[in-house]
Amino acid sequence: MHLARRKFFHQALAFSLSLAAGSAAVNAQTAGRKPTRLFLLGTKGGPRVGAEGRANPSNLLLIDGVPYVIDCGYGVSRQLLRTGVPLNSLRYLFLTHQHSDHNLEYGPLLYNGWAGGLKQRVDVYGPLPLADMTDAFMQSMKFDIDVRIADEGRPDLRQLIHTHEIDHGGPVFQNDAVKVGALRVKHPPIANAYAYRFDAADRSIVFSGDTTYFPELATFARDADVLVHEAMYLPGVEALVRRVPNAATIREHLLASHTLTEDVGRIAQAAGVKTLVLSHLVPGDDPSISDEMWTEGVRKHYGGRVIVGRDLMEI
Ligand SMILES: [Zn+2]
Ligand SMILES: [Zn+2]
Repeated sequence: MHLARRKFFHQALAFSLSLAAGSAAVNAQTAGRKPTRLFLLGTKGGPRVGAEGRANPSNLLLIDGVPYVIDCGYGVSRQLLRTGVPLNSLRYLFLTHQHSDHNLEYGPLLYNGWAGGLKQRVDVYGPLPLADMTDAFMQSMKFDIDVRIADEGRPDLRQLIHTHEIDHGGPVFQNDAVKVGALRVKHPPIANAYAYRFDAADRSIVFSGDTTYFPELATFARDADVLVHEAMYLPGVEALVRRVPNAATIREHLLASHTLTEDVGRIAQAAGVKTLVLSHLVPGDDPSISDEMWTEGVRKHYGGRVIVGRDLMEI
């Protein structure tokens, strides 16, 4: 009897779950699209790789189920797999700029997709020297790629990759699911560094890329649902630079090319975004910096929702 009741309960639960799933499916069909999903893959700014903690910068958008990868810091392949996205489903990649924390795993990600059975074309958008970097990577893997084409009957990876170099702001890409625009930001000494804005049917999401405080970004991000902005915590930076011999130069570089949390708050408030996500955290590997410390400066200027980014977080 007890068993039968439990069975009934499970059947009833399964039935109500299937009803819920059914109505969700109908809603998605009515809208005609799957909802846009945002995942942070890596949230630590800077090129050093740590054994633990945050991975190097990368983000994922699933727009109508199709992956759009923004930046390819070291670890991006593994992090994508952890979100459940098969590497052979790659379709669109965007690089904000060519600092290594944003591109070190760009070539390997393409390769890993191919090793996983990639057959469709992949379009890659990013600043110079994107085409040369892609060719150089393919050249470095020429021996293996040629062997596998002959031995395993794979398509030629080099033919699948289409690069599109960006050298100014403006519209970058559009299909029937999303419109993507770029804004040249200020990240000296790199002149070609971009923020990207993705306007999908249901959500607008902006990635600052790497930039110092740059008020034009607020106009670019106007009324976006989510702004993923880089963030630097000054007392943490000061503690960090005290440990290195060239402290003054490093401090000067960081302040000239990245944004302090107070200024991130100013941008988010001026843009009127609904949600601000702090990512590309500098320093991103100092466990003594709490979420409250990250948001304290932001809160002085921004009254909306603030999220301190963590790897594999969905927003
Ligand atoms: Zn960076
Ligand atoms: Zn950078």
